[in-house]
Amino acid sequence: MTEDELQLLVEKISIQFFNKPFLHQAFFNQRLQTTGGRYHASDHHLDFNPKMAKLDHKIFIGIIKHELCHYHLHIENKGFQHKDADFKELLTKTGGLRYAPDIRTKQSFHVYKCQNCQLTITRQKRINTQRFVCGKCSGKLLYQYTYTKKIGK
Ligand SMILES: [Zn+2]
Ligand SMILES: [Zn+2]
Repeated sequence: MTEDELQLLVEKISIQFFNKPFLHQAFFNQRLQTTGGRYHASDHHLDFNPKMAKLDHKIFIGIIKHELCHYHLHIENKGFQHKDADFKELLTKTGGLRYAPDIRTKQSFHVYKCQNCQLTITRQKRINTQRFVCGKCSGKLLYQYTYTKKIGK
């Protein structure tokens, strides 16, 4: 999908499901990793994750609807954030996606070993071994290695 096609698609969905025109710009942003899209309240433009555009078309439309909920509510001075009742209501009404699908394909795991009791600890986040000690014996932890595992789809 090109950026021109994206722009047209967002305009079409805006009319079709919100009965209001989308009068700003939609872009692809390569830097978005796991987010589907982003609404910029400063200048009303929308960014979309190009990886999400390659998923099932229905899913991508759900992501566009989600961003358009932020957009239209903000322009109308209504609650446009995730926690706002206006947002939740409009999202349900238009069939927008609440969360973008998880498109990560790999996950890293870090392995540590207690220098005292030899217990092995595996964590998805890195541990600061200066601050965290073994939960079993309070011994000092030493970083061993990191491995990655394929996840999901
Ligand atoms: Zn959002
Ligand atoms: Zn220990």
